[in-house]
Amino acid sequence: MVITEVRIKLVEENNERLMAFCSVTLDNAFVIRDLKIIEGTKGLFVAMPSRKLTDRCPRCGSKNHLRARFCNNCGTHLDENRAPRDHDGRAKLHADIAHPINSACREVMQNAIIKAYHDERERAKIPGYVCTYDDYDGGDYDYESPSYAGMVAGGKPGFRAHGGHGANGRGTHLGQSDKGAAARKATDEFGAGL
Ligand SMILES: [Zn+2]
Repeated sequence: MVITEVRIKLVEENNERLMAFCSVTLDNAFVIRDLKIIEGTKGLFVAMPSRKLTDRCPRCGSKNHLRARFCNNCGTHLDENRAPRDHDGRAKLHADIAHPINSACREVMQNAIIKAYHDERERAKIPGYVCTYDDYDGGDYDYESPSYAGMVAGGKPGFRAHGGHGANGRGTHLGQSDKGAAARKATDEFGAGL
């Protein structure tokens, strides 16, 4: 498996630890979106795309997010601490949609993504920079409890994505023909070394 492209969407400076969204293309054939680059206590790490876990309301049977305090359908009060917990006591609120099944693959993927992230930050300093990430929904900030917390690729913590990205207008992704060239070059170089 070769990662043939990584696209990064830097996130404007915020109070959260979310630094960027990204997508990866495998073998020029398959794209996975909505990965997240998060600043952990030991550096940057990549969180796989995930979905919120739900359970059913004891009264009406409709599905609610595990953190919901009231049923969306009937309004019944729900225990907001009902989510199952892992051995560290953290609530299990999300499940990965796509993820590596061994540490070698996770390492390759994470290294490629973190490298592309740093490259993107450099590119973002250049006037006229346009993000190549296809942003369908204007950004989804729901990233609590990333499932790969602690999987760190040695990035330097303590910096923030600068605020310039927003100036380009989030969601304006017309005319993308050559914007990804630099990103592709970067990932191709990375892939060649594997
Ligand atoms: Zn209900």
